[in-house]
Amino acid sequence: MKGVDMNVAVEQADGLRREALRIAGEKIYRDRVIEVFNPYNGDLVGTVPKATLEDVRRAFAIARAYKATLTRYERSEILKRAAEIIRSRTEAYSDLITAESGLCKQDSLYEVGRVCDVLVFGASQALVDDGEIFSCDLTPHGKKRRVYTQRDPLLDVISAITPFNHPMNQVAHKIVPAIATNNRMVLKPSEKVPLSALALADVLYEAGLPPEMFSVITGDPREIADELIVNEHVGLVSFTGGVAIGKYIASKIGYRRMVLELGGNAPLIVMEDADLDEASSLAVAGSYKNSGQRCTAVKRILVQDSVADRFVDMLVDKTRAWRHGDPADRSVQMGTVIDEHAARTFEERVARAVKQGARLLHGNERDGALYSPTVLDHVRPDLDVVTEELFGPVSPVIRFGTVEDAIRIANSTPYGLSSGVCTNRLDYITRFVEGLHTGTVNIREVPGYRLELTPFGGIKDSGLGYKEGVQEAMKSFTNIKTYSLPWT
Ligand code: NAD
Repeated sequence: MKGVDMNVAVEQADGLRREALRIAGEKIYRDRVIEVFNPYNGDLVGTVPKATLEDVRRAFAIARAYKATLTRYERSEILKRAAEIIRSRTEAYSDLITAESGLCKQDSLYEVGRVCDVLVFGASQALVDDGEIFSCDLTPHGKKRRVYTQRDPLLDVISAITPFNHPMNQVAHKIVPAIATNNRMVLKPSEKVPLSALALADVLYEAGLPPEMFSVITGDPREIADELIVNEHVGLVSFTGGVAIGKYIASKIGYRRMVLELGGNAPLIVMEDADLDEASSLAVAGSYKNSGQRCTAVKRILVQDSVADRFVDMLVDKTRAWRHGDPADRSVQMGTVIDEHAARTFEERVARAVKQGARLLHGNERDGALYSPTVLDHVRPDLDVVTEELFGPVSPVIRFGTVEDAIRIANSTPYGLSSGVCTNRLDYITRFVEGLHTGTVNIREVPGYRLELTPFGGIKDSGLGYKEGVQEAMKSFTNIKTYSLPWT
């Protein structure tokens, strides 16, 4: 670590971070920049360059020409060291995430911890041998041979594109499995929160990563995004973001692999036997943590008629108690959403839902990018406030009668990422696990519950079924080679 706080080192005397691209570790500055503002107070936090097409092409060419030769031990050590560095600077990175995204300190501290988890899981998975062995004398026409498998890194470069909602953890979920499998990656973070991505890249270089294995390109997606999809050296695009851009990538990509982690519209289903205190706590945590900006956040609360009034009272009480405000204040549980434009959109969509017959029980108040936690009751399942992802802290309650109704309503949107169910009845549990068309079903948990290691991802419009999570991403990022040997 050389005793240098890299986080502070890039700050200029005026406190601004005037950042550079990282092309194979080299810092490249450009005259044209993107300004990054603090969504809470409007302060300028820093600037990042607008990369040129030439910058992007050079990053891919360098990566393609480089052959990564790190041993499993070396990969594991780099990832472990990076986790230690990040842990030792938790406050600084959490402050940076809060400044550029408006996420409150409680959320950004949690995020830094998750980044460390991703690194630690990557470090341990790098050590796990992934080969399989098949005897060939299994059938009458078998032979005395054995088939072995190994997983090789891609010949071409992985192109990664990340969204704004977890400024550092989304990036960790791309680069860590890439390092663990000896791949080379060029990453474009969200232009709304590029500073945390650059900070993570610096930590990895500092931990000993050969810089050719990781470049970070910032810029205007209208200028450079296509190059990240169709550059001749791209072997796989790993994209996390909204459905529209995911489908655009699918239409452009041609004969290349892709992993798409797209939007969600997660239901939390509350059955009549549920512990309503637990269910309402899960509802508020699932709806408001990370300012409701999680692909797995609770977007619809489906409550069985006979307990709905009691549940809604608890939900409103707990929503009132959810403290939102200045993201830098440690007692605050929710900061801003990503920008004022997003907050205005939520305000309008909720107001429209009310005109369409939903009842506003709390919230829908806005001050700049600060948007209050909001509860809507008696929402019809066909209102657009629940059929289309609303990427913010809104809890729309839909009442239903039978378990079949719950499954039908839950499955009625184009999304299929995750879901949560509050019940203790085994017959309900098995019905939901079988019947819900989502990548994840969590019983008595928020839909977003996961380990950074475990398989994660959606179906339908939420993704093509290829998963992330460190272990699955390592599979996506490799080619299986089989080789066979005579065996006497
Ligand atoms: P977004 O789709 O607007 O942007 C995502 C990324 O795509 C950004 O880096 C953006 O610059 C880039 N981009 C823009 N135009 C592009 C183009 N033409 N080609 C390629 N890339 C382009 O998403 P967002 O607003 O940053 O994030 C919110 C969305 O992400 C929500 O829909 C949320 O559900 C989804 N999300 C999904 C997951 C998941 O794992 N399934 C996780 C987090 C967020």
